[in-house]
Amino acid sequence: MATPENKLAFDAGWQYSPAPESTDHIKVRKRYGLFIGGDFVAPEKGKYFDTVNPATEEKLSRVALASDADVDKAVKAARKAYGPWVRMKPAERGKYIYRIARIMQERSREFAAIESLDGGKPIRESRDVDVPLAAAHFFYYAGWADKLEYAFPGRKARPLGVAGQIIPWNFPLLMAAWKIAPALACGNTVVLKPAETTPLTAMKLAEVVADAGIPDGVVNIVTGAGETGAAIVNHPGVDKIAFTGSTEVGRIIQQALAGTNKKYTLELGGKAANIIFADAAIDQAVEGIINGIFFNQGHVCCAGSRLFVQESVAEEVIQKLKDRMETLIVGDPLDKNTDIGAINSRQQLDTIESYLAIGQGEGGEMYQSSCPVPDKGYWCRPTLFTGVSQSNRVVQEEIFGPVLAIQTFRTFDEALTKANNTPYGLSGGVWTDKGAKIFKMTQSVRAGVVWANTFNKFDPTSPFGGYKESGMGREGGLHGLDAYLRLEA
Ligand code: NAP
Ligand code: MG
Repeated sequence: MATPENKLAFDAGWQYSPAPESTDHIKVRKRYGLFIGGDFVAPEKGKYFDTVNPATEEKLSRVALASDADVDKAVKAARKAYGPWVRMKPAERGKYIYRIARIMQERSREFAAIESLDGGKPIRESRDVDVPLAAAHFFYYAGWADKLEYAFPGRKARPLGVAGQIIPWNFPLLMAAWKIAPALACGNTVVLKPAETTPLTAMKLAEVVADAGIPDGVVNIVTGAGETGAAIVNHPGVDKIAFTGSTEVGRIIQQALAGTNKKYTLELGGKAANIIFADAAIDQAVEGIINGIFFNQGHVCCAGSRLFVQESVAEEVIQKLKDRMETLIVGDPLDKNTDIGAINSRQQLDTIESYLAIGQGEGGEMYQSSCPVPDKGYWCRPTLFTGVSQSNRVVQEEIFGPVLAIQTFRTFDEALTKANNTPYGLSGGVWTDKGAKIFKMTQSVRAGVVWANTFNKFDPTSPFGGYKESGMGREGGLHGLDAYLRLEA
């Protein structure tokens, strides 16, 4: 059994809620409509799709498939709500946002369990990271609602209008919070589309929004497929697009927005380098590498999926990583001892497995832990590749699974050159005992976030976003406000 010491250490720094002992209290409806204008309404064309539990392949619920007509209805509801919302006293708007945060905390057990059921992530992560951080985002941005003049002294901050927001499946509730909280604090109204495989916590959030008494139409949530997202992007009544997802879809969206007046932010893929120097605290670094790649099954845009380890300690580090991987428990996401849950979907498992074959075909040496995995559901044992080089696809491309590619280096410059040799630029990590090396490396790695002697730490006060093909714009902190405002002299 995992002890607290050998569990994937992940401390988001926010208050933890107790674990759900059972799932009896979880209320998932058999069917969900679209949340438009403050009500759950049936989709115009009457179409629904299943959402399944990736750990059991069982159907959890049926969810509405929003068409262009539904998106149009949601955008019109958001437009209608915009006038009164923007004229409301900012402090009043702030109170509503606080209320969302408070209710979310009260229902944190339910949110955590639903997130794990629908998406496959370990309950310890949904409970200790996703849900508390999502509430923290609402608390943080609630505080800004009546202080925008201090955020941008000497300038007038005006909301943009209706924000269209499209999110991925790896952090469903947290991404919804990243999107909705700053948009509302700045006085915008929103139409949000969750990912196809993980709509249920967004639907729970819709219930919270309604219970918080937010005026009808200020928040609209439309479930659906890629076409639903495209309908939001292309709707002429939308003033801003906030997208988090793959670089591939990000490109399509950017092309669609070219020549329009819509403001946009794109948070896209990543292939972060974690760099271990020989002078690092090796055990601490090994734990950080494990967390960096295996947290949330490696379905993390900023995952440390490339490891560069200094040659003199490479053998020791690789052995320690393998030993540690053997202790990780893969299995039931609702079990508090689980370290690695289910892969989010059959499709994603196929993608990961195709990369395992590609990596071996390229001559890489693959190592997987020997832990048992359940018969049903989608699973991937923690995996690492050695004997790979810069040109290999498993080193260059985002796998978005629990797969680490390891290379060695001799000098600082070699590590830096290799780390920057990627089309992505979202995050990175450096492990060393020397402050000077930390400063030099963090300034030279072209990535939006670089952690030193830690990894995967998030906070609503700090901006997050990428360079190069990892996207544009920042979310979180003061920068996250800018993305939802028009600043005038
Ligand atoms: P995705 O396939 O790009 O989908 C993201 C969202 O866009 C989903 O809601 C998807 O709907 C929707 N969508 C698909 N096609 C669309 C189109 N043509 N127009 C508008 N919307 C469209 O990405 P994913 O597989 O869900 O998520 C994984 C990716 O997200 C990874 O690349 C990861 O690195 C990235 N990510 C980045 C960050 C960051 O902050 N930089 C954070 C988390 C994840 P469906 O679900 O119906 O397909
Ligand atoms: Mg699901």
